[in-house]
Parts: sequence; structure tokens; C-alpha cells
Amino acid sequence: MTFCRLLAKYSASLEFAYVHEMDRSLAVRTTRIAIWGCGHGELDRVYEAVAALNASAPDGRAIELVICCGDFQSVRNEADLATMACPQKYRRMNTFFKYYSGEAIAPLPTIFVGGNHEASCYLQELYNGGWVAPNIFFLGRSGVIQFRGLRIAGVSGIFKGGDFRSGYFERLPYSDDAVRSINHVREFDYARLSTLRCPIDIMVGHDWPRGIEHYGDTSSLLRDKPLFEPDVRSGQLGNPASWELLTRIRPRFWFGAHLHVKFSALVIHPDRASVASGSVGASPTAGSAAACTIDNSSCHTLPEVTRFLSLDKCLPGRAYLQVLDVPWRAGESSLSRSPTYCMLHFD
Ligand SMILES: [Zn+2]
Repeated sequence: MTFCRLLAKYSASLEFAYVHEMDRSLAVRTTRIAIWGCGHGELDRVYEAVAALNASAPDGRAIELVICCGDFQSVRNEADLATMACPQKYRRMNTFFKYYSGEAIAPLPTIFVGGNHEASCYLQELYNGGWVAPNIFFLGRSGVIQFRGLRIAGVSGIFKGGDFRSGYFERLPYSDDAVRSINHVREFDYARLSTLRCPIDIMVGHDWPRGIEHYGDTSSLLRDKPLFEPDVRSGQLGNPASWELLTRIRPRFWFGAHLHVKFSALVIHPDRASVASGSVGASPTAGSAAACTIDNSSCHTLPEVTRFLSLDKCLPGRAYLQVLDVPWRAGESSLSRSPTYCMLHFD
């Protein structure tokens, strides 16, 4: 099977479109990554797809990193299943446990953020992130890593206004409320992320930045997902804290999932003068992430655009995987540090 046919098999429309649009000032050196939408514990299926794509790549280059955008479901055992917020019929072991037990090994580095259906008791142990299995790394409630010339940040969970300003009060055994609220994003984590010194190449979240649907083909989205229309009309679709963060740190890419549809968007940022005057973005604010006083104005490399991509859930025939060659930033150092995050360097 040709590479293009394989791409078509694993994604509805998969091409390296973004690469050709990239800023010419960026270096030609690239890292080939695979973006994976909602994980749902389907590691076998994704690694099989990656192997097939590698085997047919016309340039012989392999995918170097897999990034999963939440609902990863790192379920080790049946006790973990009991801490996953979802209807009983979806509480299935799937395939992660094999990678945890050593029965299988992830064939390439894999990173992920949490969504709203996770083995929460396991991820709660890893607030700042960590290895959940060999070669599989959780980015934490929020976190940053460096991977071969790319700086990648992530935030776990979905937005629910009532829990946004709470602490992490959930304790085992989880109540019916706690099993859901533990998957809700918190203001504190956004405040940490908003202090990041630029640049961030890739930001990974689970739900969409609020209002992002207006920066892509909204009509096509609503044809695919007509039930979104009331939220789109009322400005309630997505996560306001993520929108605020997107306009503040301006990652080159923002990847998401959660809504089970492939959707891309292009956010063109206002110039720095309007950033300084505080007029960034038109979507609602979420609180202190917007009020953060950390100044990024000394950074001269903030991208002018953020490319957003959300993918579908991992089922045959669905657009759940996208391969991208992401150019390294010219002059990028191999390792940099954030004042608020312990950074992990993959080589
Ligand atoms: Zn989800």
C-alpha cells in the first residue's frame, strides 16, 4: 500500500500541509510527530498505524514522537477502572495495561495529557507528570518538555466553571462528584502556564480553546456536528482559560481532541503593540490567567499565528491520527528552563 493510501486509511485527510505553510525563517530541520486525538486506551491500534506509516514513508524517515490529546486511559487494572468517569459500558481495560506490565513496549516516545475520562487514581499520583510506562510520559496537570528541538507544553482536563478556582480536594475513594471534578482544569495550572517564557512550539490540551471554531470552517463543523450550534451561537463552546492562554503564550501549534471531530483553525495574533495594551483576543476571560502580570514583551520570537488541530476518537475510518513534520526554530538551544516547571529533555 502506498504512503498516501496509508495516510488515507488512518486519517480522513492527512497531508503535510502545515509544513509547507511554515514561516521561512524557521530552520529546515524538522521533527516528525504523530498527533493522536482521544486515546481511549487504543495503544495497539495507534502503534500499528505508526509502523505502517513508517514502513511506507517515501523519504524513509520514521515518526519520532506520538502526542495523545487526552482520554488516554492509562488503566493498569480493574481497580483503576473504578476511578474512571464514564458510563459502565465504557469501562474497558483496552490495551494500556500491557504496556504497563511489560507484556508490550511502546515502540517510540509517547506523551499525553489527561482528558475527562482517565484512570484518575493513577494520574493523581503524577501531578507534575511522569512515566506511566516505559516510553510513555504523562505531562501532568500542566507541564513542559523539550523534545529534539521542540518545546512542548500541555494541560490536562476540561473546563467546568464551578471547579476552576478550587484546589485539588479529591481523595480516594472518590465520591460521584469527585470522580468527575478531578478531571476539571484549575486556575492555578493556567497561572503557571501563563508565566512560561516563550517560545512554546506545541501546546497540547484536551478540550478546545473557547471560540476557536470561528477561526476555521465553522459551517463545515456545524454540518458535521449540528448539536454544537447552541454553544457556538452563545459563545460557550470550549475552554475560556485555554483561549486566554493561547493568546498569551502564542504556541506555534495547539492540538486538542474531546469533541470527536477533525477540525483545524488558524489564529492570527494581533501585533505586539496591541498585546501590550491588553487588547488580545475577543473571547471571554477566565480569571487570573488573563490578569497575570508576567511580561513576555522581551521575547522577540512570538509567532504571528497559532495553528490549531483537533482530531477524532480512535476508531477505524475516523480521523484520529495526523502526521506532521514540525520545523525546529532557528538557533534553538537544546535545552532551556522555565522558572515554574521542571523540564525533561528527551534526546
Ligand atoms: Zn474527552
